[in-house]
Amino acid sequence: MNIILLGAPGAGKGTQAKRLEAARNMVQLSTGDMLRQEITSDSALGRKAKGIIDAGELVPDGLMIELIAARIDQEDVRKGFVLDGFPRTTAQAEALDRMLQKKDLKLDRVVEMKVDENAMVERIVGRYICVKCGAGYHDKFHRPATENTCDQCGGTEFSRRTDDTSETVRARLRAYQEQTVPIVSYYRKKGLMKSIDGMAPIDEVTHMVDEALG
Ligand code: AMP
Repeated sequence: MNIILLGAPGAGKGTQAKRLEAARNMVQLSTGDMLRQEITSDSALGRKAKGIIDAGELVPDGLMIELIAARIDQEDVRKGFVLDGFPRTTAQAEALDRMLQKKDLKLDRVVEMKVDENAMVERIVGRYICVKCGAGYHDKFHRPATENTCDQCGGTEFSRRTDDTSETVRARLRAYQEQTVPIVSYYRKKGLMKSIDGMAPIDEVTHMVDEALG
């Protein structure tokens, strides 16, 4: 099964994509994670993307389409994929259609996680992850049981994304409204859209995603 998780920054796409990876043996394709890896490895793309990401803007379509096309070429994607953070513009959605058609793949479902965008600033600004295992935490909503120690792996080093500041989050939410929301109707016309309540507790959202996928 090949799906897209759609939703504003902070809606919980990454969390649900990871759960789908574990439960359904799908591959998470997170363009945000891919870009952060490019930045860490100091590649030409990473250097171009860094300032754009920290300003909360979108990386140009051409670069994103190239990045995802190379990833979709890899064999593991055939198990089924969860796109998380792509497409973010109509041009990206159209390019994705062409890419999948060429590879004889098809999209089965687009799940929109609807959230109250005003609540997203607080959700995003407080979040951090364990450097060792990637487990997610939040200053207010989900602190480790023992202060500064990861519940999952015992790690003691944590990190925050450089674009998770309140100013950048507001720019990211604006970019979502202006450039990404139009693709909801693009997929609705194709009959692929299901919308769920992304404000529900995480386990409930997982259940709703599961139902939306059938
Ligand atoms: P994310 O981890 O999905 O929140 O993405 C972090 C940042 O990476 C975004 O705010 C954008 O600057 C950039 N980015 C990720 N995916 C895309 C995309 N599909 N198109 C344009 N920019 C993207």
